Amino acid sequence: MRQINKEDVILKIQELVHQACCEVDSSTIKQIITSKDYEESPIGKQILEEIIKNDEIACQTKRPICQDTGIVVCFVKVGRECYLPFDLTAAINEGIRIAYKEGYYRNSVVNDPIERRNTFDNTPAIIYYELIDGDQIQITLAPKGAGSENMSTLKMLTPAEGIDGIKKFVIDTINEKGAKACPPLVIGVGIGGGFEKCALLAKEALMDELDAPYENSVYEKLANELKDEINKLGIGPMGLGGSNTCLGVRIKSYPCHIASLPVAINIQCHVNRHAKGVI
Ligand code: SF4
Repeated sequence: MRQINKEDVILKIQELVHQACCEVDSSTIKQIITSKDYEESPIGKQILEEIIKNDEIACQTKRPICQDTGIVVCFVKVGRECYLPFDLTAAINEGIRIAYKEGYYRNSVVNDPIERRNTFDNTPAIIYYELIDGDQIQITLAPKGAGSENMSTLKMLTPAEGIDGIKKFVIDTINEKGAKACPPLVIGVGIGGGFEKCALLAKEALMDELDAPYENSVYEKLANELKDEINKLGIGPMGLGGSNTCLGVRIKSYPCHIASLPVAINIQCHVNRHAKGVI
């Protein structure tokens, strides 16, 4: 067994919060730069240039990429050989509390969805745990803003609707809501599992590098087709028209019931904040 120290968790979470809030993921910025070169709309091109400049300044000055520094979502994989003589959830929240204060990031979490009092330290985080082999803790952390999250959606399709039904659902959703989510967008699609599992798959899909290879070519083909179709909608950067509405579509799937085809769409703006670390 390997003993993990509480202080190491707190420090790692602080580091990841700062990285996610101030540095755009490398595969995302690469795609934004590529998109700018083939953007047909002059205003769209100008917006992409501004986004690139904004991202560079944020990274250089360690200032947040956007004022909405989100509610923090953490995917935490804990090695079976880790010994944790402390409350891991409390340590993660402590790291977030310190980082949001250090960075003067906006506190965007309320205590209760009805009472709605700000907790003033951006906690609690939304944390998902998974057990893995080994003696390490792998953390993926994503401060998720509300602008794009609020446009996300889920539908229980019938199996007969198949791939065409999935495509129609994704494209109709982006056509209706994409302009309000600060495009160009990254679209996370979760297919299969059940009602709650497909939403989680869609969120996890957003943690992928945009150019990460797929194991299953069916999903790779579907992701590429969806990206092309979405970019033909003409919504464009910031919804002001253009040929770049979507930077990438990432799909995750899971086995499901013979009578179900759950599909969730988790929309992410161009900021696409997430950071990964290992303890
Ligand atoms: S959707 Fe993204 S870019 Fe728009 S306000 Fe929210 S975090 Fe910022």
